[in-house]
Amino acid sequence: MSNQEAYEKMYRRSIDDREAFWDEQAQLIHWHKPYDRVLDYDDPPFAKWFPGGLTNICYNAVDRHVAERGDQTAIIWVSTEVDKREHMSYRELYRQVNEMASLLLELGIGQGDRVLIYLPMMPEAIVAMLACVRIGAIHSVVFGGFAALALASRIDDASPKLVITADGGMRGGKIAPYKPLLSEGLAAVTVEKPAVLVLNRGLDTPPCPIEGEIDFASAIARHAGKEVPPVWVDSTHPSYILYTSGTTGRPKGVQRDTGGHMVAMRQSMKHIYGVEPGEVMFAGSDIGWVVGHSYIVYAPLLTGATTILYEGLPIRPDPGIWWSLVAEYGVNCLFTSPTAIRLLKKTGAEWITRHDLSSLRTMFLAGEPLDKETHRWVTEALRIPVVDNYWQTETGWPILTNFAGLGLMELKFGSPTKPSFGYDTVLLDETGAELGANTKGSLMVRPPLPPGCMSTIWGDDARFVKTYFSSAKEMLYATFDYAIFDDDGYYFIMGRNDDVINVAGHRLGTREVEEALCTHPAVAEAAAVGIQDQLKGQEIVAFVVLMTNAVPPTPEELKNVVARQIGGIAKPKFLHIVPGLPKTRSGKVIRRAILAIAEGRDPGDLPTIEDAKMLDVIRNAVK
Ligand code: AMP
Repeated sequence: MSNQEAYEKMYRRSIDDREAFWDEQAQLIHWHKPYDRVLDYDDPPFAKWFPGGLTNICYNAVDRHVAERGDQTAIIWVSTEVDKREHMSYRELYRQVNEMASLLLELGIGQGDRVLIYLPMMPEAIVAMLACVRIGAIHSVVFGGFAALALASRIDDASPKLVITADGGMRGGKIAPYKPLLSEGLAAVTVEKPAVLVLNRGLDTPPCPIEGEIDFASAIARHAGKEVPPVWVDSTHPSYILYTSGTTGRPKGVQRDTGGHMVAMRQSMKHIYGVEPGEVMFAGSDIGWVVGHSYIVYAPLLTGATTILYEGLPIRPDPGIWWSLVAEYGVNCLFTSPTAIRLLKKTGAEWITRHDLSSLRTMFLAGEPLDKETHRWVTEALRIPVVDNYWQTETGWPILTNFAGLGLMELKFGSPTKPSFGYDTVLLDETGAELGANTKGSLMVRPPLPPGCMSTIWGDDARFVKTYFSSAKEMLYATFDYAIFDDDGYYFIMGRNDDVINVAGHRLGTREVEEALCTHPAVAEAAAVGIQDQLKGQEIVAFVVLMTNAVPPTPEELKNVVARQIGGIAKPKFLHIVPGLPKTRSGKVIRRAILAIAEGRDPGDLPTIEDAKMLDVIRNAVK
């Protein structure tokens, strides 16, 4: 059987004989008590996977491996920021996770309580995540690049009992003031203030005491050698919340379950990434993003593999750093973003080819569109298959991919290949009619969504249904991406069809940027768009209208408002102060027209525009 045929057969089974397929995959993990049913889909679109089954993620990711591979390295931590390297075995991970779980219990954290983790890329972040799921607490990791306002909105939504942070982190050699940003965020919080646990790394951050803060080092010392039995939770128990951006300014808390999540992670390592227990995976991402949750933390550890946790930039101290880690630690599978590769491409292939990369079998890229040129360049430089895989925070693992574990099918540059197991993909045109090959449409998935996908939006089932399942006549999951497939059934992703932009693989809502700008007293209204960028995929351009009689701020001052409130990743590259914005007669800003002009394109026919002169206002601004 060819690889193509092997895939087709398994894929068809995952759709046509869904329950039998996932029942088989579920045997890859440990169940304390077997599930009653594989799938409960009595209340669409809410899919409950493996209900009645009792299990624990931390047990599966740590305890289970201690007997068999206790001395094997679980985590290799490399920090080029604080110049440190550490190897942590599964046995040592078990010890640290138990002590941290014991501390969490002491702090009054119990099953179902939320813990917000706002930490740099340090092993304690993984230990904290695992300690939470060990006791059935729900973690919500916030990316370190997010600042005060983003933190405050997440605390308000998740109402955590505890926030775990550090005095600071380092990014590109500069201090990132985690604790001061948290302190600023807490001041804006409207819910009950959480307790704060601080890991003091001894970095040179400005002193910023938070009332009642607990010092991690002295607190954890009281729990030396403590063991905490894993809490057996139902498969459908939430394991974590991860916030992501959408069309509105309010971020959505993507809620993931326990059992389905583990089954999805474990089988994806086997079939997609082709990583076996004992092998080494390096995901050059951040634990604050879904790629980090899935492929730095959960999938490798559930597999009994070794994961590399890298704190630093891919080009510091030099552009060879990642490849030297691949050579030194015998990395078998590397996962990163197209932007990281485009950054390395600028520095030349010799940084790659000078290292012995014989351990590396496959590289995976995801998070944003992978252009054909970059795909070709990196394939030629590495001389191994490079797999584009397409997915979202919502799904937690690939919707479209190739399958290294099954034997790769032919790779086409620019294509993330074919639907992965359990994803019944459909393309729709504007009228909601299903499309065939070679026509661009909106990419949808016929539910139930497979295991591992979001179970709901935290605290808001109605928003979950309305956001994702209400755009077509039939109940279908909307990805909000345009796509096309060719005669061979290979998909190509054509960008978002909502107001979400993607800067260097970082997902942002234009509304979040606009709302941050509007917090400045001189700003009356703002419009943000994502224009195409050679390196980062997209860059943010903002247009701001000032209050009459306001003292005009400089564009830099306004850009910094965004950086301070949401984080550096959302700072607009260009900001123009304009007298007005193009709007429809009903008063809606026509972002589509602004984007076209900002990219030097013709905005086309705009029959509903209120004042066509506003188009010239934008043209003059971007000239
Ligand atoms: P996030 O939830 O941050 O992972 O962002 C998900 C979005 O990133 C998707 O909806 C796509 O717009 C984009 N994306 C992720 N992976 C790919 C890919 N391989 N090709 C094209 N776009 C991608």
